[in-house]
Amino acid sequence: MTSPAKGYAAGAADTPLAPFGFERRDPQAGDVVIDILFCGVCHSDLHTARSEWAGTSYPCVPGHEIVGRVKSVGEKVAAFAVGDIVGVGCMVDSCGECPSCAEGEEQYCETTGFVGTYNGPDPVLGGHTFGGYSDHIVVDQKFVLRIGHDEKDLAAVAPLLCAGITTYSPLRHWKVGPGQKVGIVGLGGLGHMGVKIAAAMGAEVYVFSTSPGKRDDAIRLGARDLIVSTDAEQMQAHANSFDFILNSVAASHDLDAFVALLKRDGTMTLLGVPEHPHPSPTVGNLIFKRRAIAGSLIGGIAETQEMLDFCVEHDLVSDIEMIGMAQIDTAYDRMVKGDVKYRFVIDMQSLKAAA
Ligand code: NAP
Ligand code: ZN
Repeated sequence: MTSPAKGYAAGAADTPLAPFGFERRDPQAGDVVIDILFCGVCHSDLHTARSEWAGTSYPCVPGHEIVGRVKSVGEKVAAFAVGDIVGVGCMVDSCGECPSCAEGEEQYCETTGFVGTYNGPDPVLGGHTFGGYSDHIVVDQKFVLRIGHDEKDLAAVAPLLCAGITTYSPLRHWKVGPGQKVGIVGLGGLGHMGVKIAAAMGAEVYVFSTSPGKRDDAIRLGARDLIVSTDAEQMQAHANSFDFILNSVAASHDLDAFVALLKRDGTMTLLGVPEHPHPSPTVGNLIFKRRAIAGSLIGGIAETQEMLDFCVEHDLVSDIEMIGMAQIDTAYDRMVKGDVKYRFVIDMQSLKAAA
């Protein structure tokens, strides 16, 4: 059985998003029904809606940085109650049994792959999943997060559900902490959370940016300085000095310029998934200093809860610009230009007027 939902969808790669009516499943025993209050706008939403990656199913309702209020729960749900403030991130299901799921790394599910909050195979209704640019969502309790922040901060909490965990997870995995020099490449949605979290973990943080005008913000967010990545002299001054670099750039670019800044045994972890591949990195830069280029995908559910609790403890939220649902295409266009300070968040009340 289903009930009607309202959302905003891309009908094709080259058409603007528009109001879209669809069906959500009625809650099963383990499900939580969530009225969506706010949804962050991730660059992955844009990549998917505009079919920059292969495999977008249309109509596509993006959105995987969801904060909302529990409207109802299934009979087997004990951890959540009506009225609770909760979050949903990039995943709504996984096999639950493979080694990765068993270790709480559901994002690396080895059998079915995790089910994306949007554009994934809907395990109950068939077809594909619809995300958070909508009035409500029905999610298995295992993929619902508790939000401990003040209610006044909820819009700025939404981006933690993707940008927060995607930066927190690799910073933890590569054991970033005091005494380390850490670089964050690209000061956008992911990047600005990377700065805040790495600084809260005690690292000395530098931002690499193509936008010199973001320097004051970078320092306010917790960085020592902003290095203009297109300025060879500024880059050279930091050669061989970084323990770890987190690269959030959403477009194809030269990786060698950043690898050269790593110390011996340093790692640069890639988060961005550009439409076109990066030029192949120079092998000599890696082997002569045992440097590594790695990748990292969001984070598991338990780690997402840990990140949310860390952000409460350290008083961290995103810097956001609130938009109405109908402004989504303008927001995407600004995101392509790097003109985001530093995450757009949709006030889902605006859906009523827009839909
Ligand atoms: P975003 O807000 O648009 O930020 C990306 C930043 O990269 C921009 O603000 C800009 O910063 C820099 N940049 C953009 N184009 C550039 C270019 N041509 N050359 C150099 N720098 C450029 O995007 P986001 O939401 O943070 O997402 C970043 C990427 O991560 C996307 O590809 C997204 O799909 C991916 N992502 C991956 C995961 C994962 O699990 N690995 C999760 C979420 C998102 P400056 O102005 O400072 O240069
Ligand atoms: Zn995302």
